Amino acid sequence: MSPLPDVRPRSVSPAPPIACLECATYLVPTDRAEADGTLAWSSTTVVAVTARAGDTSGLGWTYGSRASQVVVETELVKAVDGSDPMDVPGASESMIRACRNLGRPGVVSSAISAVDIALWDLKAKLLGLPLVQLFGRCRERVPVYGSGGFTAYADEVTSEQLRGWVDAGIPRVKIKIGESWGTAAERDLERVALTRKVVGDDVDILVDANGGYSRKQAIRIGRRLAEDYGVVWFEEPVSSDDLAGLREVRDQLTTDVAAGEYGYDDGYFARMVAAEAVDCLQIDVTRCGGYTVWLRAAAIAGAHHLDVSAHCAPSLHTPVAAAVPNLRHIEYFHDHSRLEALLFDGAASPVGGALVPHNDAPGHGLALRARDAEQYRVA
Ligand SMILES: [Mg+2]
Repeated sequence: MSPLPDVRPRSVSPAPPIACLECATYLVPTDRAEADGTLAWSSTTVVAVTARAGDTSGLGWTYGSRASQVVVETELVKAVDGSDPMDVPGASESMIRACRNLGRPGVVSSAISAVDIALWDLKAKLLGLPLVQLFGRCRERVPVYGSGGFTAYADEVTSEQLRGWVDAGIPRVKIKIGESWGTAAERDLERVALTRKVVGDDVDILVDANGGYSRKQAIRIGRRLAEDYGVVWFEEPVSSDDLAGLREVRDQLTTDVAAGEYGYDDGYFARMVAAEAVDCLQIDVTRCGGYTVWLRAAAIAGAHHLDVSAHCAPSLHTPVAAAVPNLRHIEYFHDHSRLEALLFDGAASPVGGALVPHNDAPGHGLALRARDAEQYRVA
């Protein structure tokens, strides 16, 4: 790959250079024990980045590990320091190249994502534009689906959560299945039956096995999900690392198969799409490399006639999700919608089953409430 060209004509740039990145990590306990098919957790970690140019600042964050803060502070600050804040793709490339020897997937790409989001917010503010206008819109409103239904929940809790989404006008809900690595399949089906009973016949049911099933088990269960309960979306029926397995399940079922949440670079999405592994590609802006790479991944899917779905982080996804033609929906994930409301001003709630991008202030419209967040700060 060639050296980066000098794309910083200071004399015509309207903005002062990027001067610093500040980072903080918050650990927020969940409101009750949570688990999916293959993992259990009791807290969510947010690594927040503030990027400054002159008197203007932009905010980004990722959900993951406090180790991402170390990556920002030791590697990414020097990669973007002094850059023109108008040139976010150039800053993205500088960060990616600076981390070559560290290995990009996981903690590193999450750190890059938080910085990239902060830089896009910063650029939009420097230009005095809402981020949704900077990206440009394909739609005014972005559909969401309610997501939670953890395997650790008692049935009463699941029912209450499902009713909350339906009462809020959200016509799509997702629960976790694949409990205990696929060893509780009958309970999985009972919980899907409960879901149908609670939400009625007019709400779409989505399920996520988080890779908990084997291939043939997923096909057997998938047929029952579709025929008995009308499930429309089967996420990670097998491990998302098993592209041939996803393809096999997809070929055997009428239900859409989805995956992609562990995509940390655009090559990952290209491989998943080339393997014909999914009907809808999931992309997470807090993991894939921020808005810069999210847009590229959506284009990769679009070129293969596939929709994309934004994985988690609903408030961060809203402006970029409005900007692509092949967007199906945003995951309105219980942990993140709760946490966004807890820590940030400007976190939106869906109305009529959709989120509307902020269009009345520069940037993405989200601001950290430092005083409220301080009690959760760990670094
Ligand atoms: Mg998932």
